[in-house]
Amino acid sequence: MKDSHNRQIDYMRISVTDRCNLRCFYCMPEEGICKMDHRDVLRYEEIMEIVCQGTKLGISKIRLTGGEPLVRPDIQDLIKGIRGIKGITDISLTTNGILLSQMAGGLKEAGLDRVNISLDSLSAVRYRHITRAGDIDRVFQGISACMENNLKPVKINVVIMKGINDDEVEEFAKLTKILPVGVRFIELMPVGHASQWFNDRFISTDEVMKRLPGLMPEDKVRGSGPAVNYKIPGAIGTVGFIGALSHNFCESCNRIRLTADGKIKPCLHSDIEVDLMPALRQGKGELIDVLGRAIGLKPRKHRMDDLSVADGKRDMYQIGG
Ligand code: SAM
Ligand code: SF4
Repeated sequence: MKDSHNRQIDYMRISVTDRCNLRCFYCMPEEGICKMDHRDVLRYEEIMEIVCQGTKLGISKIRLTGGEPLVRPDIQDLIKGIRGIKGITDISLTTNGILLSQMAGGLKEAGLDRVNISLDSLSAVRYRHITRAGDIDRVFQGISACMENNLKPVKINVVIMKGINDDEVEEFAKLTKILPVGVRFIELMPVGHASQWFNDRFISTDEVMKRLPGLMPEDKVRGSGPAVNYKIPGAIGTVGFIGALSHNFCESCNRIRLTADGKIKPCLHSDIEVDLMPALRQGKGELIDVLGRAIGLKPRKHRMDDLSVADGKRDMYQIGG
């Protein structure tokens, strides 16, 4: 279906949980989170019903995210269920990678196509500091497991932050010389509590690119995703840039987001939310109509460049990135 700004909406990002086995300092508060009540979290059959109705409106691509999607029990069952829905052509997952080494085979078997792995440092000490808990070796083992199980292409998401990890840009890019991965540098976004220190840590895509002279453009035209991709001559992987703020890509946005508690967020950085629960659980209205209304509410563009209208309602772990 097209939204009211003539964009074709075919992609749904589904946050399956607000829980996580890490505590990345820019995503979650240090003191931990006030977890959603189990009763408020969508059951797998409810998610499948939403996806099913979504396909009737043109949704064909699904990404599972969180919190950390791999901590939700039996996530393979959900993947299997979604795989069986007519009209779904692509299922991907965004994860911190900690549990991937033991789960990659089962995820592939269930029908997962590919994986994006978040990794903000190549140094074990710094990684532990950023995530407040993580063991980087497990992430590397997870990356290998994805390759072995044909969950390809593996993309590595790096949120670049001034004074935190911006001295690792070259090192990350060099990974693409030895691994067939897509390393993507993502601009920090002023979402949730990251808004407080956003100005001190933000570094633009253009600044990051200046540190990587000699990149060759890989995409002539941007694909359906927001990344613009390049290659180091001779490398086997690619280097991409997602400049949500400095290179606004709202004009070609094709996505909606479903939160773990059953709200559709038509835009990442907007307080607009449409609750699917009344239609799902109380039979108040048709689910497909509520979904269609949510798509219709999608704003023309986000307002991340104006910190005074920052979305204060949810942190990123409650949205899914
Ligand atoms: N736990 C999974 C993971 O870390 O990949 C999935 C959920 S996480 C919220 C999804 C993505 O959002 C991660 O790549 C994370 O780095 C990114 N993210 C979180 N907060 C962000 C922020 N303020 N700006 C930009 N990206 C952010
Ligand atoms: Fe957890 Fe992902 Fe947020 Fe890190 S970015 S705290 S791994 S949800």
